Amino acid sequence: MDRNEAMLRELHLYPQWTLRAPVEQPAAIEHVDDVGAGSLAPLRQAQGERESIREQASPASIEAARSIETSTDIPSVQNIGPDVSVSAPFSPATTWPELKQQVRECNRCGLRTGCTRTVFGVGNETADWLFVGEGPGAEEDALGEPFVGQAGRLLDNMLTAIKLARGKQVFIANVVKCRPPDNRNPAAGEVAQCMPYLARQIELIQPKLIVALGKVAANSLLGNEATLASLRGTLHDYRGIPLVVTYHPAYLLRSPSEKAKAWQDLCFAVDVMSKALAQHSVHP
Ligand code: SF4
Repeated sequence: MDRNEAMLRELHLYPQWTLRAPVEQPAAIEHVDDVGAGSLAPLRQAQGERESIREQASPASIEAARSIETSTDIPSVQNIGPDVSVSAPFSPATTWPELKQQVRECNRCGLRTGCTRTVFGVGNETADWLFVGEGPGAEEDALGEPFVGQAGRLLDNMLTAIKLARGKQVFIANVVKCRPPDNRNPAAGEVAQCMPYLARQIELIQPKLIVALGKVAANSLLGNEATLASLRGTLHDYRGIPLVVTYHPAYLLRSPSEKAKAWQDLCFAVDVMSKALAQHSVHP
């Protein structure tokens, strides 16, 4: 048993998560900087094929996905996202140390009074990959690092599966930096207040690809309220940066049958990154 197989078995993904023939992907990205609404159109043509993959999932797993996507616990995220009207609490030229201090001292929303500490984010500050979740949980709140609980361990294994590692090629952050009470989803107003920090993190990192983990992260970054099912399998765009949507690891822990679909998303992300890197080497 090789190392990759052992890792997949640990994830309970083997042999389901075996990488088969190259996943059929959309046409190559002509220029990473051009990944806008127009250039995304051809990529969306591939969505029909991905929908057919979705249709192959069991009715139970589809229903499970729908139930979380339509849960009344998930607040509306309408009108939030990168173009929110809430002003940034810092100058456009804010550096990493200044931004970290701003977040440490922030009390722009009510979440600060209920959390132990802010959770800024962790990883390579010039990473090609940026993974974004929704907010810290109890263990993250205690340790000050995102994705350190059981869901974090699954995320680490997912990263290993695509030959990445926390702290190396990856930066991990959340939409909100303070833990919402009782692990509820952050409210729209809280997201709007905190989004400028994530937006500045992205400006500083300049990742080649963003992976949104879950509906709240995807809706916040894209400024919409689309369902996770409708966002998966399609290449999106955050201010010129390609963005891929997949399930939050905490959801995968509750619905392990969906891990196969998360693996499809990761393969899609790897393919997008490969094309982005190839274009970058041709057009440095
Ligand atoms: S969640 Fe964000 S905006 Fe709200 S207090 Fe924490 S750092 Fe500030």
